[in-house]
Amino acid sequence: MARCRSGGVAFSVLVHTDMSSPWLTRFGNDAQKRKYLPPIITGEVVCVLGITEPGTGSDMANLTTRAVRNGDHYLLTGSKIFITNGVYGDLYFVAARTGPGTAERRHDGISMFLVERGLSGFTVSRKLDKMGMRASDTAELAFHDCPVPAENLLGVEGRGFQQLASGLQRERIMAGVLALSGATQALEDTMAYIRERHAFDGPLSQKQALRHRVADMATEIEAARCLLYRAAALYNDGKDCITEVSMAKLFATEVANRVAYQAVQLHGGYGYMREFPVSASSAT
Ligand SMILES: Cc1cc2nc3c(=O)[nH]c(=O)nc-3n(C[C@H](O)[C@H](O)[C@H](O)COP(=O)(O)OP(=O)(O)OC[C@H]3O[C@@H](n4cnc5c(N)ncnc54)[C@H](O)[C@@H]3O)c2cc1C
Repeated sequence: MARCRSGGVAFSVLVHTDMSSPWLTRFGNDAQKRKYLPPIITGEVVCVLGITEPGTGSDMANLTTRAVRNGDHYLLTGSKIFITNGVYGDLYFVAARTGPGTAERRHDGISMFLVERGLSGFTVSRKLDKMGMRASDTAELAFHDCPVPAENLLGVEGRGFQQLASGLQRERIMAGVLALSGATQALEDTMAYIRERHAFDGPLSQKQALRHRVADMATEIEAARCLLYRAAALYNDGKDCITEVSMAKLFATEVANRVAYQAVQLHGGYGYMREFPVSASSAT
C-alpha cells in the first residue's frame, strides 16, 4: 500500500485499518464487534479517528469535547479538526471528556465513543484543503448535543486516554513504514533517472559527487529500515518498545524528508514537474 505512489490513499486506508478499527477489536464488547466488524472488514463501513480539536492536538489530555450522560444516551458537544476520512467516513471513534481530570491525573476522565454518521447534531463543518496527501479527505467536525447511544461507549468510561495511548506503538510503526517506503521509492526513481540523464559527456550516475549523495541516501534508508525492523520485532514479541518505536518513527520520517529533498535536486528541473513521481515524494 505504501508503494502505491499516493500517500493520501495509503494514509486513508491506514487510518481505517490501523488507527481506528483496532480500538474496536481491543476494547469493544461482543455486541459492538458483531455489529461493526463485518462491514468494517469488507470496507462497507469506513472508520475515522477523532481526537484532535481546534484548541488541542499533541496535548490530548486537554481536549474539551464533552459527553454528558442523559438516560440511555450520551450527549456529545464539541468540535474536532484534521480528521482523516472525516468527510466520507461512516463510523467515528471519538474521544470526549466524560468526567473531570485532576491536577495530578489530567489524563483521566476521557472516554471513547463509536459515533455513526447521520446522528442528529453531528455535522461535517468543513472539508480541509491540504498541501499534500490530497487524495485523503480531512475534515473539521461539529457536535451539538449529538445523542450517542450509551451502548456505543468503547471500553471503560474515563479510561479513553489510557486506551488510546496503549495502541500508539502500532500507529508509529506504520507511519515509519510509510516514510521508509516513500524514501525507498524516491531513491529508486533517482537512480533510474541519473543513469539515463546525460550531462558533460556522460550519464549523471558516473559523476562521483552525485554517487556520494546517492550512497548517503541509501545508507540513511538502510539505517531507518534496521531501526524499524527492530522496533517491529519487539512489538510483535509483545515487548515494551515505546523508546525503540519512537526512535524508529522519528528517524524514518526525517530520513524521508532528507531523501525526498535530495531526490528532487538530483532530478534537476524535472524533479519539480508533477509528471515525475519524485515531485510528489515530499508532499504526498
Ligand atoms: C494530514 C493530517 C491528518 C490528520 N489526521 C488526524 C486524524 O485522523 N485524527 C486526529 O485526531 N488527528 C489527526 N491529525 C492531527 C494530528 O494528530 C495533530 O496535528 C497532531 O497531534 C499535532 O497537534 P496540533 O496540530 O494541534 O499541534 P500542536 O500540538 O499545537 O503543536 C504545534 C507544534 O508544537 C510542538 N509541540 C507541542 N507540544 C510540545 C511540547 N510539549 N514540547 C515541544 N514541542 C511541542 C509540536 O511538535 C508542533 O511542532 C491529522 C493531522 C494532519 C496534518
